[in-house]
Amino acid sequence: MKDAIDALGARIAENSYILVGKGGCIMTYPIDFGKTMNIVAINSSYEKWEGPWVVPADFGKISAEFSGWGPHAQSIINLLDRPETMAWSMWDHPPAPTYCSGHIAMMGDAAHCSTPFQGQGAGQAIEDALVLESLFALVKTPDQLPLALKAYDRIRRPRSQRVCQTSRESGELCALRFPSVMDDPKAFKQNIDWRMDWMWNRDVGLERDQAVKIYQKLLEGGELDPEFD
Ligand SMILES: Cc1cc2nc3c(=O)[nH]c(=O)nc-3n(C[C@H](O)[C@H](O)[C@H](O)COP(=O)(O)OP(=O)(O)OC[C@H]3O[C@@H](n4cnc5c(N)ncnc54)[C@H](O)[C@@H]3O)c2cc1C
Repeated sequence: MKDAIDALGARIAENSYILVGKGGCIMTYPIDFGKTMNIVAINSSYEKWEGPWVVPADFGKISAEFSGWGPHAQSIINLLDRPETMAWSMWDHPPAPTYCSGHIAMMGDAAHCSTPFQGQGAGQAIEDALVLESLFALVKTPDQLPLALKAYDRIRRPRSQRVCQTSRESGELCALRFPSVMDDPKAFKQNIDWRMDWMWNRDVGLERDQAVKIYQKLLEGGELDPEFD
């Protein structure tokens, strides 16, 4: 963090920013209770990735890939010249047809891992946990468990898979190649505002209550409503 403040100033180093550009973006934000500024520099032009998914980063390569960016970006990239920097390949899940089968369910990244463009991976795992723990509290016998898991799947699968989808689209936005936006700043702001609003302003308590209602309906012999979302 000290090096980051020296290079970028406290306003930038101690807050969250995304620098967007053609074919990639650079995110910076404080972690570790403010002791470290984390940098995520993303090159979105790779079509495929061979070999291990996480490898020690080659600073020369990163520097070359961002060489056409402006001086502010260069100051950030120069901070990456240290041995602990890692290179990660980015993956997400195609939508699974279900998150449950009988007495078994998937949650978190196992069910819906997403790209990092909306910082939502752990958030979605926590939303899964909220719904699951509320349902588990109501399960009294082993044969009720599959019904609880069906209610979980009904509520959590649409939202978490939409998060994967919008995260992927945000990656395109941040690389300035989302078709209806490209590098138009006004359209960019409108689009990203809508995406974050949809994500952050969700009533997760309501989502949990809906899952409980669905479970109770299934317990009484009712059917899943295909229209419900
Ligand atoms: C570089 C990076 C940055 C990220 N930044 C953010 C962010 O800013 N915000 C955000 O919300 N999310 C972020 N994420 C995503 C977030 O880390 C994941 O979505 C989240 O950790 C998923 O939690 P999980 O419990 O589902 O899976 P994991 O955290 O992967 O936990 C699974 C655990 O299971 C263990 N395990 C695996 N197999 C077995 C086995 N056979 N037996 C026993 N244990 C096993 C693993 O060791 C691991 O501990 C980031 C991810 C990465 C890689």
